[in-house]
Amino acid sequence: MSAEGNSAVGEHGVSKRVKAANRKPVKPAKPESRLAMVRRARKINRELAEVFPYAHPELDFRNPFELLVATVLSAQTTDLRVNQTTPALFAKYPTPEDLAAAVPEEVEELIRPTGFFRAKTKSIMGLAAALRDDFGGEVPGRLDDLVKLPGVGRKTAFVVLGNAFGVPGITVDTHFMRLVRRWKWTEQEDPVKIEAEIAEIFPKSEWTMLSHRVIFHGRRICHARKPACGACPITHLCPSYGEGETDPEKARKLLKYEMGGLPGQRLNPPPGYPGRPAPPLGASA
Ligand code: SF4
Repeated sequence: MSAEGNSAVGEHGVSKRVKAANRKPVKPAKPESRLAMVRRARKINRELAEVFPYAHPELDFRNPFELLVATVLSAQTTDLRVNQTTPALFAKYPTPEDLAAAVPEEVEELIRPTGFFRAKTKSIMGLAAALRDDFGGEVPGRLDDLVKLPGVGRKTAFVVLGNAFGVPGITVDTHFMRLVRRWKWTEQEDPVKIEAEIAEIFPKSEWTMLSHRVIFHGRRICHARKPACGACPITHLCPSYGEGETDPEKARKLLKYEMGGLPGQRLNPPPGYPGRPAPPLGASA
């Protein structure tokens, strides 16, 4: 990753980021009150909105059915790998009826790159059959219905509701769990409890975009093992500053996707995405 790679994001606010990264992180002298935490949390959300105005779901999809299947396939793998796999799958099986009537071995071959392909074939064919038999071939837009589909839990349901139906939802994935705990928004470890506590901090209208921003930040800057603290725009709001690399030069080299001047995860990113699209399966970036 080159220095030029990082300066490529300059037009999208890198100067703000570098300036912010040099701001001294706040170390509260006394325990933070609930009110102060809520204010700080909302400020983080506002600042992330400036850093990632283009935050979006990182799975390619053209309709609720494709998003539902892609989200199920994304378990235990990257969105990139799913995006590289689904074009061939949806070209062959564009509707729930098509997928429900498929030959399982042929589906397995198509989705093999996403891993756990036998179990995932069962899940997506099962949910396609349930959509065909119980919902007239349409993806339902209600949480209660979605979680009854095979292989669909709350996280998948909220992804679909938030991004295909415009229903506000908090997506508690591994990045979201890690970051909200680093920021001391919650001490819970159970995703459902985390979701409930975060829902108390933010108005409903923010839930979907908050989820995207937090996940973007987790994937690009605040990584699990080596957070790029020295290149982070919200050090002044983060009680965990210093958990990762604080040297600005070294930290910048840890930035990923468009922040590092690299391709993103979507082969078809939405308009406004400042990075490069991901390469198709087998092609090099
Ligand atoms: S841990 Fe480091 S990278 Fe993560 S939000 Fe805090 S300051 Fe930023």
